[in-house]
Amino acid sequence: MTRGDSTAKAAGIVTLVVAALLGSAYVLGRSLVPDQQAQRHSTGITSNADAPGYADQPSGGEPSGAPSVSGSAGPAQAGQDGSGRDAGDDQLFGAHATTGSPRLALTFDDGPDPQYTPQVLALLREFDVRATFCVVGENAQNHPDLIQAIVNGGHTLCNHSWHHDVSLGTRSTDAIRSDLLRTNDAIRAAVPDAPIVWYRQPGGAWTYPVVSVAHQLGMTPLHWSVDPSDWELPGAGKITATVLAQAEPGSVVLLHDAGGNRQGTVDALRRILPDLTARFELEALPTDPT
Ligand SMILES: [Zn+2]
Repeated sequence: MTRGDSTAKAAGIVTLVVAALLGSAYVLGRSLVPDQQAQRHSTGITSNADAPGYADQPSGGEPSGAPSVSGSAGPAQAGQDGSGRDAGDDQLFGAHATTGSPRLALTFDDGPDPQYTPQVLALLREFDVRATFCVVGENAQNHPDLIQAIVNGGHTLCNHSWHHDVSLGTRSTDAIRSDLLRTNDAIRAAVPDAPIVWYRQPGGAWTYPVVSVAHQLGMTPLHWSVDPSDWELPGAGKITATVLAQAEPGSVVLLHDAGGNRQGTVDALRRILPDLTARFELEALPTDPT
């Protein structure tokens, strides 16, 4: 091989690597852009009093201005789940966005929370509805009684990472695996035999590694199809209107029972449940997904 050949080959490899990196950054950027837009939008029209909600961090976590993750995504790092219903299939990496049946599933993220989770559970009980709770590991550790209440109510569980790490999917597979296992351990410290067969990536920021690790650990990636952006605190009326307008057979509805002031979500739920239960069969996502 001549010097010129090897130089050309090296240049070719460099070009490929750069292209791959740019491609990854592009995909990551696309997946986070809606959160960034929502973040700017929300902070532009509301007071700081609601900041913990926008941060979407578990109560007691760091302030919204100090996200725990590294990277270049800016405010979206502390972003909420949601604003992702327009995500294309290429951004979901196979994560389920519907129930796969005519039944509709309500999902509640970021808890459990001692103020709002009991209110949500009481409403679900009142309307004889079972749902799925995507819980954050450290919140499960802090509130094992609420994990027990969720399971005792006939609801199912979904792993939502230890600390709501929106960038978890960009970490090493070892780090991802450790985070998900730690979360499952916290859940099982409360309910030892709890089936945990779903994983929802915070912010819906799916990557191939996080989907792969979830599968390896026996969990199916779960996205959503109806998102009223309740974490933006649009008010119970708007949350209600969005859910009722967009719900259809197979919908997976994204709501939050923690991460900020969720009274609007609770109030909306009281209006949503009579309508949805009249139009659909509601289910807790099954613990034996295929
Ligand atoms: Zn979340």
